[in-house]
Amino acid sequence: MAYAYDDQNIFAKILRGEIPNKTVVETDHTLAFEDIYPQAPLHILVIPKGPYVCFDHFAAEASDAEIADFHRVAAQICADKGIDPGAGGMGYRTLSNAGEHAVQEVPHYHMHILGGRPLGRMLQPAAD
Ligand code: 5GP
Repeated sequence: MAYAYDDQNIFAKILRGEIPNKTVVETDHTLAFEDIYPQAPLHILVIPKGPYVCFDHFAAEASDAEIADFHRVAAQICADKGIDPGAGGMGYRTLSNAGEHAVQEVPHYHMHILGGRPLGRMLQPAAD
C-alpha cells in the first residue's frame, strides 16, 4: 500500500483552521463536524487529525489510540444525538468512501454518520 497524502485537501484546510466548520466534537485525535451538503437531517463527518487518505490507510498506519478515539467519538455522537438503537433510537448509517469506484471526493479519511430519516437500502444499482 502506498498512499500520498495531499495536504491541500479541504479537510486538511479545515483542520488547520483555514476553512470554517460546524464542529460537533473535537478531541486530541479526532474532529467531527456537520457535512456542508447534508443528505439526511443528521449528517456528520468524523475525521482523524492525522494525514490518512482513506479507511485502509488509517487502519494500517494510525496508532491504536487514534483508532480507538475515532470510533469512540463516532459512537458517542450517535448516543448524544439519540439515534443509537441500543438506547431506543431509530438508527443510523456509517459509511466511508475510498477511491474511484466509491466516488471519494475528499482524500482525507472520513466516516459519514447519517440519520434522522429512513435511509433506504444500502446501495443503489450501479449507473453504467
Ligand atoms: P466523500 O464523497 O469524499 O465521501 O464525501 C465528502 C463529503 O464532504 C461530502 O458529503 C461533502 O458534502 C462534504 N464536504 C465537502 N466540502 C466540505 C466543506 O468544505 N465543509 C464541510 N463541512 N463538508 C464538506
